[in-house]
Amino acid sequence: MANLVTSSLRKAAFCLRRSATSAHAHSVYLRHRGLIAVLSRADVCKSHRRHLSQYVQGVRRLQKLKEDETFCRESWAQGNFAVFYDLRPLVVPSLSDEGKHLKIMKIAWKHSDELSELLKEDFRADESIVLNCNISDPTSPPKFAINIASKSSEPDHKEKFEKRFGSTTVSGRTSLFVVSKTDARILGQCLPHLQWHIRHQFCSNCGERTTKDPSGSKRTCPTCSTVHYPILSPVAIVLVTNGDRCLVVRQPRFMAGMYSAISGFLEPGESLEAAVRREVAEEVGLEVEEVKFFSSQSWAFPLSSLMLGCHASIKHGTTDHVSLDEAELEDSRWLHREEVLTILDKSSPKDDDIWLPPEVAIAHRLLKSWALKEN
Ligand SMILES: [Zn+2]
Repeated sequence: MANLVTSSLRKAAFCLRRSATSAHAHSVYLRHRGLIAVLSRADVCKSHRRHLSQYVQGVRRLQKLKEDETFCRESWAQGNFAVFYDLRPLVVPSLSDEGKHLKIMKIAWKHSDELSELLKEDFRADESIVLNCNISDPTSPPKFAINIASKSSEPDHKEKFEKRFGSTTVSGRTSLFVVSKTDARILGQCLPHLQWHIRHQFCSNCGERTTKDPSGSKRTCPTCSTVHYPILSPVAIVLVTNGDRCLVVRQPRFMAGMYSAISGFLEPGESLEAAVRREVAEEVGLEVEEVKFFSSQSWAFPLSSLMLGCHASIKHGTTDHVSLDEAELEDSRWLHREEVLTILDKSSPKDDDIWLPPEVAIAHRLLKSWALKEN
């Protein structure tokens, strides 16, 4: 009976939660079926939380970490940290096999206590950034990332660092290809964000040194009060098709044998569709129509890009003869659907093979969805 009453009172308290945040800041007084009860603010919040999905609770916690500096500082003590050395993530061998490709490394998460012990005064939690990787699990410890700068005065500093952690570091770009998709998404968030802080130590408006907020979501200039937020660059990536063939191109900087879809940065004032038509005309001298958005993906390189994947077909009645922009590209190929599926299926291409981007890249999904006629 007592439980039933308490339960009913808590339901009623949920309805009255507004009053808990205003006049009755610490308690809610309820007159319920002749009983008078007092529910603490914590009871009301607990009841309130039960009505929110796990995802919404996770988003709200992340929001609080970003906006409430005291909460963020207090959370460092329970946090797990992804550690970077000069933007090289610290990784350890993994035995997990996600999908058909063996992923050989995983992020070497470190608790704040371990970092304090291993790094001593070099561990400065106020230089960390909050990560959004565990939104769906709001009761798990909050996650952060921190970059440790090299010490040029100390020979073999990197090797000593790795030895101290019993782990190894790999380059940022390589790391995305040797870890699971889940870890790749996390590293893809960390790398550009940490790099942004390194590159934006000074105010672009007045030149004064800027101050990072505890969560790392912004930097503020103490002199002119300008608030600086991390930069995100939209990039159009388009798979051009003509019937049962699609066009893939090769940039000189690509790994040997690799071809991908056409891509380029959006310009100010330009729509995604206009950028697609312009990039295709610039890079391969073709005109396209029926530009259709497919999906988007955050990408860490060159610096926090938002890849906007599209399909587009050659404009009816125009040529499919490619005229390469040789300053940007060194080759192109038209591939049939069957060829695309065969190439995507290769787990370890030989040196003389053509190969297409791995699963971690949006270009892979653009190609696969078109080859399977899913788009
Ligand atoms: Zn300034």
